[in-house]
Amino acid sequence: MSSHSTALATTLAVAAPTEGPLRRHTHTYQLMRQCIHCGFCLPTCPTYALLGVEMDSPRGRIYQMQAVAEGRIAISPEFVEHMYCCLGCRACETACPSGVQFGKLIEAAREQIQLEIERAGQAPANLSADGAARATLESRTTRLLRRAFFDVLLPSRLMTTLFFAALKLYQRSGLQALVHATGLLDMVNALPTPFQGRLKTPEALMAPARGPLFSRPLPEITPALGQRRYRVGFISGCIMDQVFRDVNEATIRVLAANGCEVITPPQQRCCGALHVHAGEAQRGRELARYNIDVFEAYQCDAIIINSAGCGSNLKEYGHLLADDPLYAERAAAFSAKVRDISEFLTSIDLNREMGEVPLTITYHDACHLIHGQKIKQQPRRLLQNIPGLRLVELKEADWCCGSAGIYNITNQDLAGKLLERKMNNIAATGAEAVVTGNPGCMMQIALGIRERGLRMQVLHPVELLDQAYRAAGLYRQPAAAAVARRRRLRQRALLVGMGASAGAAIGFWLARRSR
Ligand code: SF4
Ligand code: SF4
Repeated sequence: MSSHSTALATTLAVAAPTEGPLRRHTHTYQLMRQCIHCGFCLPTCPTYALLGVEMDSPRGRIYQMQAVAEGRIAISPEFVEHMYCCLGCRACETACPSGVQFGKLIEAAREQIQLEIERAGQAPANLSADGAARATLESRTTRLLRRAFFDVLLPSRLMTTLFFAALKLYQRSGLQALVHATGLLDMVNALPTPFQGRLKTPEALMAPARGPLFSRPLPEITPALGQRRYRVGFISGCIMDQVFRDVNEATIRVLAANGCEVITPPQQRCCGALHVHAGEAQRGRELARYNIDVFEAYQCDAIIINSAGCGSNLKEYGHLLADDPLYAERAAAFSAKVRDISEFLTSIDLNREMGEVPLTITYHDACHLIHGQKIKQQPRRLLQNIPGLRLVELKEADWCCGSAGIYNITNQDLAGKLLERKMNNIAATGAEAVVTGNPGCMMQIALGIRERGLRMQVLHPVELLDQAYRAAGLYRQPAAAAVARRRRLRQRALLVGMGASAGAAIGFWLARRSR
């Protein structure tokens, strides 16, 4: 028995939680009982691969959740550790023959933990005596930081804009260079604070930010290039819009080039993905309700997202608000309209008027795209449409890169090991660019590239499509010319089809006559 499981086994029997998602006789409890303990998920779990501990495997985590739900164990520090050591990558879900929805379970467990912390007004009980003072300080600081990040920064566009403007200023004013040159960052990092030794990664994650200090809101309505075929809503995201504004702009252009009128409501807010992932489900539900209200007013055919983590959460608004009598139905209707950009573009008649993009790329599957949304082939199919582009498959493409929401900040050691493994595979491809559909993965892999001094770019698939359309001169054409050109292409395709059918009919007739 491991030290973790020993600690759990010796925890006094306690009453099961009376409120929160981890109770007996709840929907979550029924979900966890689907686990048949077969262990098929174990080889796919990155934390189990790294730690080799059953309690850090999907099966072990479900076992612990069930024990809490049945009141056999308390929400102890060990339980918290195992639940937050999970990446939430959902690779176990893909492997599970019993259909266990692990993503929903881990989110429920973390929500229960946060409820307990709130109730107790501190971190869970049983903190070790030797580290009590530091742990209390850490827990207070952590709670303060959580409130600042989840309640103040993420939900407010103004706050995220100000935060990232300050960051750009830090990078561009020379302050960052000074901090590095003088060793100030190392000194602060070594101070005995709750963040001792943990400041360098968050700082290093931020690549030199592009764009103006204060980015203007994206246009509320972008007309279709040519004839309008769809009216789509676009979720611009909170971090995505600040760090990868160029990806958002490319997404809008590509959608417009495919006959979409793109609606980007300026009043939309963070989708709540990071909240739900980290156990802040209450705030996540508030944001979900708010965004449903906003998007319902526009009556779009589909709601498009280019961030895998956000897309996965948006598709689960129905589950998140299932117990809300006012929103349950509306949330399910909202989720039914959500499409990842690659999923949407491969489901419509794609505009194939593309120029060459001569580049060798490799593709990393973001966990929340491949495991969370089961989207694997669509991005590859889109990329294969681009002339000149060569796709080299990546070994272990679906193995987590260590980003996992804020995991690379909260669990730096394990995240670093996962990044190392990912970068070894990426370097072996010899590609000029790594392509992936999630901002967190883009930042994490870009960090790996910088650390290794590789000459590689990190791109979103939509950026390559955008380049292909630009290379074809599509964006230079006035709308009417684009319509005429598409019409000509359609007519040509129709004529070719008619010619082929006529040829086949004549051939058939001649063959019959010659008998
Ligand atoms: S979500 Fe990922 S890290 Fe967590 S248990 Fe499943 S496979 Fe392991
Ligand atoms: S594969 Fe599914 S059923 Fe089997 S142990 Fe893992 S979660 Fe449980």
